[in-house]
Amino acid sequence: MEKLTLKEVIKGVPDRWKAQYPNGKEGKYEKLIAAKPLSKKKVDEIIGNDSWTRLTCESCDMDVKEVIILDGFEYPTYICKECLNKALTLLETK
Ligand SMILES: [Zn+2]
Repeated sequence: MEKLTLKEVIKGVPDRWKAQYPNGKEGKYEKLIAAKPLSKKKVDEIIGNDSWTRLTCESCDMDVKEVIILDGFEYPTYICKECLNKALTLLETK
């Protein structure tokens, strides 16, 4: 179990982009590396959409600023604070 923030997601975009497009794609990796500071707005502009700078809770499907990554048997699951709070409330309700 660990925490992942939107900031970390944005910071990791150049590496993830390179992993997905090892042979480059329209020089976007170089643009991502050159963009300092690397903000959500900049990344979205360079890539052309916001699919690389979204952090989505898999329970409520909302875009959030941070999630907890729950380890799973096959895949990890991203859950936001609000959903974790709801889960806790359910557990504590008699
Ligand atoms: Zn949620």
